[in-house]
Amino acid sequence: MIDLRSDTVTKPTTAMREASYKALVGDDVYGEDPTVNKLEEKAAELTGKEAALFVPSGTQGNQIAVLTHCQLGNEVILEENAHIYLYEGAAMSAFAGVQPRPLKGIRGALNPEDVRNAVRPDDLHFPETGLICLENTHNKAGGAIIPLENMKAIHEIGQEHMVPIHLDGARLFNAAVASGIPVKEWSSYVDTVQFCLSKGLGAPVGSMIAGSKEFIRQARKWRKRLGGGMRQVGVIAAPGLIALTEMVDRLAEDHEHAKMLADGIKNIKGLEVENEVETNIILINVERIGHTADSYLEALKKEGILGVAFGEKTIRFVTNFGVMKKDIEQVLERMQKLVL
Ligand SMILES: *Cc1c(COP(=O)(O)O)cnc(C)c1O
Repeated sequence: MIDLRSDTVTKPTTAMREASYKALVGDDVYGEDPTVNKLEEKAAELTGKEAALFVPSGTQGNQIAVLTHCQLGNEVILEENAHIYLYEGAAMSAFAGVQPRPLKGIRGALNPEDVRNAVRPDDLHFPETGLICLENTHNKAGGAIIPLENMKAIHEIGQEHMVPIHLDGARLFNAAVASGIPVKEWSSYVDTVQFCLSKGLGAPVGSMIAGSKEFIRQARKWRKRLGGGMRQVGVIAAPGLIALTEMVDRLAEDHEHAKMLADGIKNIKGLEVENEVETNIILINVERIGHTADSYLEALKKEGILGVAFGEKTIRFVTNFGVMKKDIEQVLERMQKLVL
């Protein structure tokens, strides 16, 4: 099977498994796991923040950020297709007691003027704006890179109104590698950032959140409250370190493969690539070949190819390091065959 469902399907490398085996460990709830400490230092360094925290998942990392930044009854400004809004089970309302204020974006990017207008003025009736959330790269917009200039403009608005900004950077390393702009620079326009170790970077588990020392102190407490305090967790932090030291530059291959795939698909009559492919995600509209997303995925599966539905007429492919260049060639051949 050529598995293009997601970059989460990647399995840990041999180096990661070996690092797990050899990892020095301790009780991380006591702050005594040397491997976790090293990983957190590395994440802080890469994001240019004072401190960082290892969390079990991206969802928990994002929600800890909401919980730490916000008070009950606050409002959170975000893009209407943001992962935090769409794919996290309304956790911000269920746990943090805040309401989302979704705004329409363009390719995942918020219009800074819309953000400015959405910040609530001081009024007895209104919720207070507690947080602005951004997402880069933007998953639902097909791995789109939110331009640095856009983040800069929204950062200024946040500063002006004293509203903190959290970046859901699940795939921030993809943005960094594709643009050549370091993670540190992207993070400089937000107060806190979450990124995933377990997507294109290939670690089996985990995400990092980074911010000020005080933010991380409070975030650590929220992680504990949520049951995310882990013990000899160096065994999963060690692959995370490998992810950050050995797997970042490799993301360029995924991007190259995604472009190859998109270019090939553009030459297949009836198939339409919906997004401008900037990183590792390709959205393909299958309507004109008389398929629904589900029926096309069924047909692909019989050809040994896996993708996911992204709406009724669109399927999503995500290139990842389990998929080689020769696999991409195979996929194109078989997709061509399916249309004939
Ligand atoms: C995957 C993803 C997350 C959540 O990460 P999990 O580890 O699956 O909880 C958050 N935001 C975005 C944009 C993602 O793609």
